[in-house]
Amino acid sequence: MNNFGIVLENADLKKYNTYGIGGKARYLVMPKSVDKLKELLQYLKDINMPWYVLGSGSNVILPDDDFSGVIIKLDQLNNYKAKNDIITVESGILLGNLVTKMLEDGYINYSPLLGIPGTLGGAIIGNAGAYGKTIFDDLISVTVIDEYGNCKTLKKDNINYQYRYTEFKNTKNIILKAEIKGIKGNIIKAKEQIKENMQKRLATQPLEFKNAGSVFQNPINQSAGHIIENIGLKGFTIGGAKVSEKHANFIINYNNAKSCDIINLIKLIKEKVKGKYNLELKLEQIIVSWDSNGIQNSKT
Ligand SMILES: Cc1cc2nc3c(=O)[nH]c(=O)nc-3n(C[C@H](O)[C@H](O)[C@H](O)COP(=O)(O)OP(=O)(O)OC[C@H]3O[C@@H](n4cnc5c(N)ncnc54)[C@H](O)[C@@H]3O)c2cc1C
Repeated sequence: MNNFGIVLENADLKKYNTYGIGGKARYLVMPKSVDKLKELLQYLKDINMPWYVLGSGSNVILPDDDFSGVIIKLDQLNNYKAKNDIITVESGILLGNLVTKMLEDGYINYSPLLGIPGTLGGAIIGNAGAYGKTIFDDLISVTVIDEYGNCKTLKKDNINYQYRYTEFKNTKNIILKAEIKGIKGNIIKAKEQIKENMQKRLATQPLEFKNAGSVFQNPINQSAGHIIENIGLKGFTIGGAKVSEKHANFIINYNNAKSCDIINLIKLIKEKVKGKYNLELKLEQIIVSWDSNGIQNSKT
C-alpha cells in the first residue's frame, strides 16, 4: 500500500470528519499523484477491496462501525495554476486556500465561499454555496476519474447540477480537478465582505461545537432552521447529539455523540415537520454506510 502515497493503518475516522464521529478504517491512503490514484483504484479492484473518498468530512455522517476498506483522501492533489483568467485546480485543495489564492491573483468571484470548510472536491459534489454564490456559478469544467480508471472532462453545461445537488452524488466518480473562471474586481471591498460574512457565521452558527453545517436543505422560500425552531426542537437531544440552540438547522456533537444519535435526531425532526406541516425536509448532509459491496450514500 505504501507505494501509493501516505498510508495510515487502522485510521481513527473521528479525526477526519467535523462531527468527530465514526469507527476505524483499515487503511487511509493519500495518493501522491493522479497516476498513483489510478494504480490504487486498479489494485483495489484486483483485490476486491471497497473504498470511499473523503474530503474534509464536513458534510458527512460516518457510521459508527469500522470500515474494512480504504478511505481515499486527495490532500496531496492540490495544485493551483492561474493563466489568462482561467484557474486550473486539483480537487484536494481546501476551499479556503483556493479562495485565498484567487484573491492573491486578483480574482474576487469566489470570495463569498470563504468560510465553507472542506475541499474543492467536496464542494463540487454538493454544489456548495453561500451568500448568493455557488461553486458551480463560475465553473468551466470538471475532470473526473471513474472506478475503472477512465478520466473524462465534462463542461459545466453537460453536468446536471442544482441547489446542493450534482449528478456526481451517489456515484463512484472521483473529482480530480476543475477549471474555474477568474473574475477580477475590487479586492478591498471583497475582503470587507468576507469579514462581514465571517462575523455573521460566528454570530449565527454553533462553531464552538463539532457539527457538519446545515443538516437539511432549505425548502423553496423557507428556512429549515425556522421550521425546526417553530416546532420547538431547539435544544432537543438524543444521546450525545443535540439540535443547536443557536441555529436549529445544525445538529451538534455536544457529548460524544454516536452516528446513530445524529441519525435518530434527523428522523425525529423529519417526522415532526412532516406531521405538523406535511413537508418533507431533504437532507443536505450525507449519511454514509459501509456495505458488503462498498459504499452507499443514503438519500434520506
Ligand atoms: C461549520 C460549517 C459550515 C458550513 N457552511 C456551509 C455553507 O455555507 N455552504 C455549504 O454549501 N456547505 C457548508 N458546509 C458543509 C460542507 O462544508 C460543504 O458541503 C463542503 O463542500 C464539503 O466538503 P468536504 O471536503 O468536507 O466533503 P466531505 O464531507 O468529505 O464529502 C462530502 C461528499 O463528497 C464526496 N467527495 C469529497 N471529495 C470528493 C472527490 N474529490 N471526488 C468525489 N467525491 C468526493 C464524499 O464522498 C461525500 O460523498 C458547512 C459545514 C460546516 C461544518
